[in-house]
Order: sequence, then C-alpha cells, then structure tokens
Amino acid sequence: MDIHHHILVSAMIAAILFPFTGWFSLLALVGGVLVDVDHYIWFITNKKDFSLVHAYKFMKHEYTGDSYMTLVFHNIEFWVICITCAIFWPLYWPFVFGLKAHMIMDLYMFFKYRKTHPQHVAYSLVKKYFVDKI
Ligand SMILES: [Zn+2]
Repeated sequence: MDIHHHILVSAMIAAILFPFTGWFSLLALVGGVLVDVDHYIWFITNKKDFSLVHAYKFMKHEYTGDSYMTLVFHNIEFWVICITCAIFWPLYWPFVFGLKAHMIMDLYMFFKYRKTHPQHVAYSLVKKYFVDKI
C-alpha cells in the first residue's frame, strides 16, 4: 500500500478522534503511517544499505516475495502488546486505531495481489520462529 493512502486514512481517523482525545489523536498517524519503518529496518538488516531511497525502490519495485520477511510492527504479537497498552492507557487507542486501519489496508493489498505480487510477511513471529522455524 502506498504511503499516501496510509497518510490519508490515518489523518481521517485522527480528525474523527480529535474531539474525544485532543492532540493524542495524532497517534493515529504514528500507528497508521510510521509503523512502516519496519520495512526500512528489514532493508537495513538484510541488504546492509542505509539508503532510504534504495529501500523505497526495493520495497516498491524489486521485492519479489522470495524471502519470508519479518516486519517487527506487522504481526499479531505487536497488536496484542498495543491493545494491552491501550487497555491500561486509554489515550493510546488512537495509535491502535491507526495501526488497525494500516493492517487492514496492507492485508487488502496482500490478498488482492498475492498471485501476481507475493509478499511473504510473517504476520505471526511465534509461528515463524517457533512453529515453522524458518
Ligand atoms: Zn504496512
């Protein structure tokens, strides 16, 4: 999913939540947009290249889904941690709503294009490292 789609949807969520949570509604932008920083972290650790431009081009055009990508913010375990935090600190909910929208959009693209543009993302770290052991 292009980042401008994530920005647009997260900004709408922040605007909706602003009357209820004030400036904490901007956490929807953090949860909805900045969680994609894990793509950059993956690129740095696997390609040994710090170039943000190279990382963007790789993720956008070159990644063929041939490796089982671990994205630290795109998995069910991170969701559980975030929801648990939001239960104890309710002002954290805008972050969770932004993250939820982000993941719905990512999964929509995953299922829509999985045959032509497969992206093997480990949506469960427990499954990847303890069940599949890849
Ligand atoms: Zn994403």
